[in-house]
Amino acid sequence: MVDLSKYVREIPDYPKPGILFRDITPMLADPQALAAAAKAMAAPFLDMKIDIVAAAEARGFIFATPMAIELGAGFVPIRKPGKLPFDLHSFAYELEYGTDELQIHVDGVKPGQRVLIVDDLLATGGTMEACCRLLEKCEAKIVGCSFLIHLAQLGGEDRLNPYHCHSVLTYD
Ligand code: AMP
Repeated sequence: MVDLSKYVREIPDYPKPGILFRDITPMLADPQALAAAAKAMAAPFLDMKIDIVAAAEARGFIFATPMAIELGAGFVPIRKPGKLPFDLHSFAYELEYGTDELQIHVDGVKPGQRVLIVDDLLATGGTMEACCRLLEKCEAKIVGCSFLIHLAQLGGEDRLNPYHCHSVLTYD
């Protein structure tokens, strides 16, 4: 068993004062840890007939692709404006300062397809909520949301209710 918590580096006051940044690059650089992380994120969904794994750029992509292969599913990207070339669904959401927007191809996910949404880390839940809204616009069946890390004190899981959330590492 790989102790994945050993590969998460804590960087205080990055990218701004007061934020404790969880840096997963040491995990990504280690072959056993990377494989174990992707497997642990996919494990609860192995028997759930996932058609598509969807993820927002950039760190979500890293885990979503090996998970899609593990689950026998396809991968659909969710991106910032200006990156996807075809017709789009868009969803704008509030950040601490200002707004951000995410987009998905209108035909990325077909109505009724069973989708697992993936990100490296759940903080306030704003990013994953935006991903859920986009997949609802596609009329997908959202089977769950899978994270490597959950920062439990920020209330992100409540924001994603009623969707099923799974996290490999939880920090208070
Ligand atoms: P949120 O939308 O607040 O749930 O934030 C989740 C997104 O922001 C994820 O894609 C993370 O990569 C990034 N993020 C938020 N907080 C942190 C943190 N403390 N350390 C590393 N990444 C973070």
